[in-house]
Amino acid sequence: MLNETLRELLISLQRNGICDPRVLEAMARTPREEFISDSDLKEHAYADEALPIECEQTISQPFVVAYMTERLHLTPDCEVLEIGTGSGYQTAILSRLARHVYTIEMHAELHRLATGRFEKLGLANITAIVGDGTRGWPEQRLFERILVTAGAEETPKALLDQLAPRGFMVIPLGSRYDQRITLITRDGGNLEYQTLLPVRFVPLVPLAPEGSAYCCLPGSPK
Ligand code: SAH
Repeated sequence: MLNETLRELLISLQRNGICDPRVLEAMARTPREEFISDSDLKEHAYADEALPIECEQTISQPFVVAYMTERLHLTPDCEVLEIGTGSGYQTAILSRLARHVYTIEMHAELHRLATGRFEKLGLANITAIVGDGTRGWPEQRLFERILVTAGAEETPKALLDQLAPRGFMVIPLGSRYDQRITLITRDGGNLEYQTLLPVRFVPLVPLAPEGSAYCCLPGSPK
């Protein structure tokens, strides 16, 4: 049984044009209240709005989560790189639609809370690390899908370099208070940019200077 507010949210997502049944099902199966620590805010979990979380960040608006997920055209064999784990809500949605999700968060506290939630919900196909997502995944490898959930003035080169041939990247591009969700597709050596919905995300912050040690893979020395 879906709770009533979640049911209303799903209806509103469909009215606003979200039509991929797999995305809607992933939203239906993912309890957003689990990704919000503040007990007063939990009652707004299924309102279609972004809400404040720890470290002065936000949990994204459900419509935006659904919209970006749809644009990624995930298939069950895809590996996805996500930049900006935040609460982990978007990560959880991706994990239900992809083979594996790799996610990077710059705040250790958000990373800690998010990984606890993945464990509680039994989401085992997620690898989460603390680090600077503008530098891409710290191993040399390609991803079929990349999702950035923080606003950037331009697409970090390291992320373009990790986008597989025929891969898709979704990223909010623009100024601090006015970005457009942008779909970048790689066809061989060519990148094609498609400008979509206006949004306002918290900024993608570049952290460590190039060349310095900044993060660790699970199991590697700190
Ligand atoms: N999808 C998340 C939204 C998180 S907000 C959710 O629904 O909860 C964006 C997140 O990006 C924030 O948690 C912020 O700390 C993180 N972030 C910003 N710049 C970053 C960077 N360079 N590397 C990794 N994470 C970053």
